[in-house]
Amino acid sequence: MTALLQAEGLSKHYSIGRKGLFGLGAHAVLRAVDGVSIRIETGTTLGLVGESGCGKSTLGRMLIRLVPPSGGRVLFDGQDITALHGPALKPARRSMGIVFQDPYGALDPRMTVEAIVREPLLIHGQRDEGQRGGRGRVAAMLERVGLPTSAASRYPHEFSGGQRQRVGIARALIMQPRVLLCDEPVSALDVSVQAGIINLLQDLQAELGVAMLFIAHDLGVVRHISDMVAVMYLGRVVEQADKRTLYARPMHPYTQALIASVPALTPVGRTERRARRTQVGGDIPSALNIPSGCRFHTRCPHAMPVCREADPALVDHAPGHAVACHLY
Ligand code: SF4
Repeated sequence: MTALLQAEGLSKHYSIGRKGLFGLGAHAVLRAVDGVSIRIETGTTLGLVGESGCGKSTLGRMLIRLVPPSGGRVLFDGQDITALHGPALKPARRSMGIVFQDPYGALDPRMTVEAIVREPLLIHGQRDEGQRGGRGRVAAMLERVGLPTSAASRYPHEFSGGQRQRVGIARALIMQPRVLLCDEPVSALDVSVQAGIINLLQDLQAELGVAMLFIAHDLGVVRHISDMVAVMYLGRVVEQADKRTLYARPMHPYTQALIASVPALTPVGRTERRARRTQVGGDIPSALNIPSGCRFHTRCPHAMPVCREADPALVDHAPGHAVACHLY
């Protein structure tokens, strides 16, 4: 079956200039994303999880072509869109929306909510009946995301973080995209309002049939909303499975540590405020200096000599359950 959105060996490398010996210029390569292949099926949600700096946001932005890849391919509905630009890219772009992490910085403070939500329609040359006195798409969408009609004429600073994120979601969905990138959409919000936003996104997905890439640094957050989950570490996917399998039988030591650090009680609507650190010793290494062999070996409690030498490939160990680890 053709995936709606697919990454094939996708990479993003940045060349960083730095002073070398005797002041001579030297270049280092920051490998933010390093050969990732994932797929998102129509109407489903892929949860993408990993610590800050693992490359998940860069991967998401490459998939919706906001960031150009250094290597690999992006396929949308079977079409290779990696090298498309300008008018050729527009049809695919129209089908893609994004919800940003920061509901405070993502909305223009000088624009009314109505103008913010309507802007994508104007960019893509579409009309809204609301501009001619009728009940338009903007009004319907504001209502759909749980905002009162009176919100249309107000400005972002008049709203709480959760309400602003609802404005961001309305803006992202106004073009009726087929795929929605949610880039840590609740991590800047109070724990008390996170569940409401996750429930809203889940309802909208069921209603609109939109596919989602939901990025988070916490496996607890993606648990309720995902069909599939991919775990990223230092620019690579290290484990991928359907949600039920991943939470019941995590195989990669990193996934196991992430799951161990999820608060025990996190049903939507009753999320506990219990900020725990990942139960992995040490910090994530720099993407400028990726460890040899398995890139997780510097922190892995099960590391073996082979792990320092050989880079484990992401291999299916059961149908639909892939893991990159020498233990298996
Ligand atoms: Fe740990 Fe080795 Fe597996 Fe890497 S390959 S996760 S170091 S056991």
